[in-house]
Amino acid sequence: MERTLAIIKPDGVARGLIGEVIKRIEEGGFKIVAAKMLHLTRAQAQGFYAVHRERPFFNDLTAFMSSGPAVALVLEAENAIARWRELMGATDFRKAAEGTIRRAFATDIEKNVVHGSDAPETAAFEISYFFNRFEFVG
Ligand code: GDP
Repeated sequence: MERTLAIIKPDGVARGLIGEVIKRIEEGGFKIVAAKMLHLTRAQAQGFYAVHRERPFFNDLTAFMSSGPAVALVLEAENAIARWRELMGATDFRKAAEGTIRRAFATDIEKNVVHGSDAPETAAFEISYFFNRFEFVG
């Protein structure tokens, strides 16, 4: 079993897509083992996306991620990291496959509704960024 971090980003929450995203997660066979709603500060968003700090979109991205409430979830499944990225779709929704969350709901390369860890090391960092050991079930 593998764990990955999912986030329903502020655009997804603001547009009433929490239920839709969680439905797809549950139907996709993932077990949700931790969940919380939170409004990141700018500094918290900068820390989360520290790997992107040299990218031209870092300021925009961290402003967006701290612009409103988000939902953080830890998903568990076999190959959870790759499977959740498959369900999300490509970063750029115009390149995302039919049937993916981003293809269906993203409006912009930045406002793409969901986040998912991209490798075991980033999943470990990202999960521990949001959750402590007492916040898991199952
Ligand atoms: P992900 O792993 O698919 O989320 O993609 P990345 O790790 O490459 O980028 C992180 C997040 O930054 C993306 O999900 C987008 O919200 C945002 N992002 C990526 N590329 C761009 C870009 O070219 N411009 C802007 N404004 N945001 C971007």
